[in-house]
Amino acid sequence: MSKRSFKGNDSINKKKKLKGTKKIIISDISKIQHLETSCIILKNLAFDNEPICSVTLSNLNIYCCLTCGKYFRGKNFESPAYQHALQNFNHKLFVKMCNDTDNYNTVHQFITLPDMELIDASKSKLLTIIQNNINPKAITINTIENKECFDFINKKKYITGCVPLTNEQGMDHVNVIIQLLSQLNEFKSFNEENNILTAATNSTCPNGSNDTSVLLQKKLLKIIRKIWNPELIKANISPIELINFLNNHYYSNQRNFASEEFLHSLNDPKSLYVWLIHHLHNKKLLTENLKGYILVTKTKIDLTNLKPIPNEKPKKFITPFYLLSVDLPKTSIFKEPITKISKNNDEEGKEENCENLLLSSLIEDKFTQPHISKDGFRCEYEIKSSPMHLLIHINRFENSTTTLKISTNLRNKKIVEFQPEMKLFKNSNNINGKNGVNYKLKCNIIYNSSDKSNTNKWSVQILTHLAKFDASPNKEEQWFEIDGLEVKKSDGVLLFLQESYFQLWERV
Ligand SMILES: [Zn+2]
Repeated sequence: MSKRSFKGNDSINKKKKLKGTKKIIISDISKIQHLETSCIILKNLAFDNEPICSVTLSNLNIYCCLTCGKYFRGKNFESPAYQHALQNFNHKLFVKMCNDTDNYNTVHQFITLPDMELIDASKSKLLTIIQNNINPKAITINTIENKECFDFINKKKYITGCVPLTNEQGMDHVNVIIQLLSQLNEFKSFNEENNILTAATNSTCPNGSNDTSVLLQKKLLKIIRKIWNPELIKANISPIELINFLNNHYYSNQRNFASEEFLHSLNDPKSLYVWLIHHLHNKKLLTENLKGYILVTKTKIDLTNLKPIPNEKPKKFITPFYLLSVDLPKTSIFKEPITKISKNNDEEGKEENCENLLLSSLIEDKFTQPHISKDGFRCEYEIKSSPMHLLIHINRFENSTTTLKISTNLRNKKIVEFQPEMKLFKNSNNINGKNGVNYKLKCNIIYNSSDKSNTNKWSVQILTHLAKFDASPNKEEQWFEIDGLEVKKSDGVLLFLQESYFQLWERV
């Protein structure tokens, strides 16, 4: 077929003049379908990698060849995209990729090369789906719920909101935090505002934060929109663009003068979460429902007898918190008279590590027993306002003294028991107008202690709400565990049997 076969024949339904250049737009459905069947090879397409020209390494004006999936700078004469189309039979349908100034509602241009004919993608279901895989649409009230869908390549079933992420460069601790944040309605329904688009094009934002925080937020929200996309081409997503962004803008440049908090985040999901929410551009808007308040009472004491120092008035102040961290009792070398449960009945050696601790009791203890600080204060805590979304950190790990990363060998393996719903803060007075607050577990990050090689160290368990077969309005609750690319059903009442580490609870 001639490379000029579409030009000047019936397929050209309308012509427009833009900037003095004649633009030809193909909107004839049969011609578009012919292009699709002759050019598009879906299994070669992913759109997860950062758009960088495979010839020049430029990141400007990048087009993706829909036949081989490679990126090229384009589209004019002598550009790599143009040359690629000339040199490869049937590699002639291209789509313009996102750049950093694009927003979630950017419309991506489909074009034939070397003919330079634009395609009216709104006439094609497949091209619309490709557009939504490059730059997923805003999450709306219609797409915010879990739905069973089938991907376009393998017809493999997946559930929106519960899509596995590929483990890039051993960064599965980043994946589980993306999954956790994707379960928050604030992140799901938060779509970039116009001011972010403007801010990304400037070196600094009006409030003084730099454009790195804007881009970090855009890249994170783009993955979350993909996780909720009901029209995925492939039922897994690579977070490689965000990982590369973290490596290029934070991890490599700032390692030499990084804070302890930052270094902890290099392999610890909880530290990464803390670091991430403080580096997002719209952190106040996104984290408002993650914040609670506690009343702290600090009394100066004599560390030798733990008694208050006379004439020193206790200091009281209210402070916000973004997560509750609970410490586990250290493992004793002596047998303790405590109820024990066995995670693996056939593994006797593990039984001594399976003391039965209740998560709700560990949290209540935090607010009923005073804490003695090293600098000589007795600190008492009282919840004044409980957050809508409560993050609970079960402190299992010690930090390595040399790298500051958490040491997975030095972890506390105790099982912490919980049910998917629990009442907290029962001893706090009048919190949120009632005595105690009910919370329901939404997401549970676990440490995967399997010794198998190539196993992901971090997995995540997610509560989904799926429509019932009888079409009744009530949804069926089902837990799923995402371990690498595998998604399997879990029993909600047995989630505690694994080494839970970081949890998202919702006030109900
Ligand atoms: Zn190609």
